[in-house]
Amino acid sequence: MMGATMGDTSLARNRSYGGLSDLELDHRRTGMRVPSAAPTPAKTSAKAVWDRVSSRPRHTVILCFALVFVVTLILAVHQYFLVRARELDNRSHRLEIQARVLDVAVRNNRQHLQLLRESGERFLADRTAQLDRTADGSLQAVLRAQDERVWNLQVGDTDAPIRGIGTHQLAVMPGLHRDEPRFLEDLRLAQLMSRLLAVQFEMGTGLERAVYVSPAGIVVAYPAVDDDEVVRILQTLGSSRLLQLASQNPLAYKVTFDPIHGRENPAEPRLLFGTPVMSNGVVRGYLFFIIPQRIVQDYLRTDTTPDETHALVDRSWKPIATSGTTLAAAHENWLETLPPRWNTLSASTLFQTGTGMLSAGQDFLLFRKLDTADLLLVDHVPAASVFRAVVRLSSALFAGVWLLMAFLLWSTLFVVDRLLSTQMTLNQRLRELSLADPLTGLANRRRLNEEFGALSRRDVERHIALLMVDIDHFKRVNDNWGHAAGDEALKHLADVVKLTVRPGDLMARLGGEEFCVLLPDTPADDAARIAERVREAVAGNACVLQEATLLRSAPGREIRFTISIGVAERIADDCRDLERLIAVADQRLYAAKASGRNRVVACESTQS
Ligand code: GH3
Ligand code: MG
Ligand code: MG
Repeated sequence: MMGATMGDTSLARNRSYGGLSDLELDHRRTGMRVPSAAPTPAKTSAKAVWDRVSSRPRHTVILCFALVFVVTLILAVHQYFLVRARELDNRSHRLEIQARVLDVAVRNNRQHLQLLRESGERFLADRTAQLDRTADGSLQAVLRAQDERVWNLQVGDTDAPIRGIGTHQLAVMPGLHRDEPRFLEDLRLAQLMSRLLAVQFEMGTGLERAVYVSPAGIVVAYPAVDDDEVVRILQTLGSSRLLQLASQNPLAYKVTFDPIHGRENPAEPRLLFGTPVMSNGVVRGYLFFIIPQRIVQDYLRTDTTPDETHALVDRSWKPIATSGTTLAAAHENWLETLPPRWNTLSASTLFQTGTGMLSAGQDFLLFRKLDTADLLLVDHVPAASVFRAVVRLSSALFAGVWLLMAFLLWSTLFVVDRLLSTQMTLNQRLRELSLADPLTGLANRRRLNEEFGALSRRDVERHIALLMVDIDHFKRVNDNWGHAAGDEALKHLADVVKLTVRPGDLMARLGGEEFCVLLPDTPADDAARIAERVREAVAGNACVLQEATLLRSAPGREIRFTISIGVAERIADDCRDLERLIAVADQRLYAAKASGRNRVVACESTQS
């Protein structure tokens, strides 16, 4: 049965594909070049990165978003420091404004006090006033009553009341003295102050009382004070540090702002502006503006945000006023109210610097010296407070950005998933098409190659048989029933063979009416038996044509045809590759044709 020639040129051409290997064919079809020289490493790595990126779009999208997230995080940290700097800037601006307001108040009161002093001193320097020894009715009355415990000098309704104490009371008060020849002049000065004090009081800032006190035992107060208060004021003046200072250095000592007075009476602390009225180096009186400490305290409290801690302190860190609801009078040292890291801070350095900001850890201390007094306005900014302020300012922005990013990530992933699944379905479809014969739906030569490769790679000793099938006299089928009927016969053959072999066997169409069946794990003699079964099944099953394909000239509705089969087996025929296996099976097929058709030719050992 052996000895068929390789005379069929069409078969030979089909199987060798014009002498090209599968790899070369693949490259020709896909347009890819068979690599002839090694590409440059840069190109290779760039391409490798691109291949990696494009092969995992989901990972790439997530990675890109993670990168953007990290970048926004870095931006957020950067923004945090920017916003913190701005917040601190705002706070020092607010501190600056507060300092200016306090400066304006101090300056205003000082100016008024200065004006009063100048008016008094001008009056004392006026020769005509000094020469006037006459006294009007009200002055006469005082001169008469000056020994009474407390006396009044009559003044106009809108002027500040003038009161004095008797000569005996005055004698027991240290530092005070009534010089009889000048008493009339003292009273006239008091009359002048009485008129001016009421006016200046209205123009002052935050004043509780404006007072003129004379060492001659005269008190002019607006609003009025009672008798006990007159005595107390005079006693205070007698022991006053200011009076002593003014006596020691009358030229330099003009107007002072003295908050120390308030400290002596912590229950009702007061800030004091004072200036002496001098004549020829002698203190003739003292002018006071009294400001309740609570006015400064209230100003700081209402003008400071709740998370700030402002304080007005002197050189020894004593608080004059704070932004708290009450002045912590018990605190002699404001620094002690701060975290311990600030305790060693030197006030003199801050007073010297004037304006600035210090930091300790994440805490900040802003400070601004008043221009008009030896006082420092400080703002302690705890770390948590800055953090809260910054988060308040920037969290909405970043929360918005991150929400937007999350939405973009989700929608991009959604689109990528959709594109990917469509792409994968298309790829799968393309792959199926590239591996299948369009007429019969059987595997094509490419699929056959892949299957054989996969089977033979796993085990080199594996039995793999191949049946080469060709329809006998198929030209006649076409001639008698037409090409469409021929196609139907080809499909019929595919169905019959598939039903006859095992599900794991692979039937492929190589071209025309030539088929082959790949039988894994099948020794040669088994393959010969299967081939025989296939031959019988085809011979015994006529193809019944569809109405549509039946020609009028057709000899009948049924087409009966036979097949010839050549069988080869990988181990028995020592065929390591598919080409060789096909060639051997092909030879035997031709042997079958030559010996009369409708038969199986297997290797000689199985023929017996
Ligand atoms: P043999 O017994 O020697 O094989 O005789 P044969 O007539 O079958 O000869 P051969 O195998 O050389 O003929 C192949 C014929 O099959 C030629 C062509 O008309 C027909 N054919 C090839 N492909 C198709 C196809 O796709 N459809 C149809 N209807 N006919 C085909
Ligand atoms: Mg043929
Ligand atoms: Mg044929």
